[in-house]
Amino acid sequence: MEKIEVNFKKIVEKLDSPVLAVDDDNKIVYANTGFCSLFNTNCELITGKNLYDFLPEDKDTVVIKNYTYKITKYDDEYYSYYYLSVADSQMEKIYSDFISTVSHELRTPLTSIRGFADTMLMSYDKLDKAQIQKFLTIIKEQSNRLIKLVENLLSVSKIQVQHSNLVFKSVNAKSVIEQVAYILKNQYPTHPFEIQCASYVPNILVDESKFQQIMINLMDNAAKYSYEKGAVIVEIADSQKENFVSIKVKDHGVGIEPENMGRIFEKFTRIENHLTRKTQGSGLGLYIVKDLIEKMGGQIFVESSTELPKSGSVFEILLPVASYTNQSKKRLEDR
Ligand code: ADP
Repeated sequence: MEKIEVNFKKIVEKLDSPVLAVDDDNKIVYANTGFCSLFNTNCELITGKNLYDFLPEDKDTVVIKNYTYKITKYDDEYYSYYYLSVADSQMEKIYSDFISTVSHELRTPLTSIRGFADTMLMSYDKLDKAQIQKFLTIIKEQSNRLIKLVENLLSVSKIQVQHSNLVFKSVNAKSVIEQVAYILKNQYPTHPFEIQCASYVPNILVDESKFQQIMINLMDNAAKYSYEKGAVIVEIADSQKENFVSIKVKDHGVGIEPENMGRIFEKFTRIENHLTRKTQGSGLGLYIVKDLIEKMGGQIFVESSTELPKSGSVFEILLPVASYTNQSKKRLEDR
């Protein structure tokens, strides 16, 4: 293991693409997070196992989660490295899904902004105060939607191109969540947003703007995939895991079927149901949420049910408390 170059490890560790290093006996000495999440396994458990427990012996492709991956092998003095990439024809499909999602997501709000601005310009004299107010509110909401999409797209490109720079500091989770609830209340006026905070909860050690982005994505989803007037409840408390704060975002919406749980964190993935058909989204929110939480040293869990009348979801995130020593802070920044 020590023989693996530190730089090489740093580079591949955060790659989305699965990478594996094996020794002469085909024993796995290293697997990056891309590999472990693809095979839904823990990176520590995988070490020492045989390569062919995971990959077929005589093939240069493998099918996992409906995708065909090409296996490319690199050899060096000590180990063989296996790199899995999605086969070309599927890359084209992913690319075209990306283009259609993004163009739909851009075009819809832009068309509506232009339409309402046109109406106001052309019929300004004939509109009463309430109508002007209504049209301006729509323009503002649609602009917010565009800003959220652009922020999510920028985050994804950052995730892919480089390890984004996070600035860690001590943050009061409740006050950030209150700001997020205030922003979303305008967008979802019929949904109550309730924040329940235990009496003493320590600050968390996070990048504040990224934490806000995480909470916007989770709380926005909770309202978006709920029925009208459905409450969004956020609970902030000490976690059972020592030195972590737990934040739960709960809704009583449509819920997620067990077979779709594994897919919701994949990028550009939206689960078909009557609310996703009615609502807009790029399928990027949870992908970004998971990535950011893990970079901040945290974890995310989901529980959900589609069974009426108790349907709904709970997204729980655990984030490290700020009383971490400086050493831990440095370790997080180096990740
Ligand atoms: P988007 O909301 O833009 O579609 P996300 O990555 O945030 O993308 O979520 C991926 C999918 O997960 C959504 O399309 C939806 O089907 C499902 N999902 C996310 N949050 C919830 C929730 N709170 N309740 C039900 N389904 C959800």
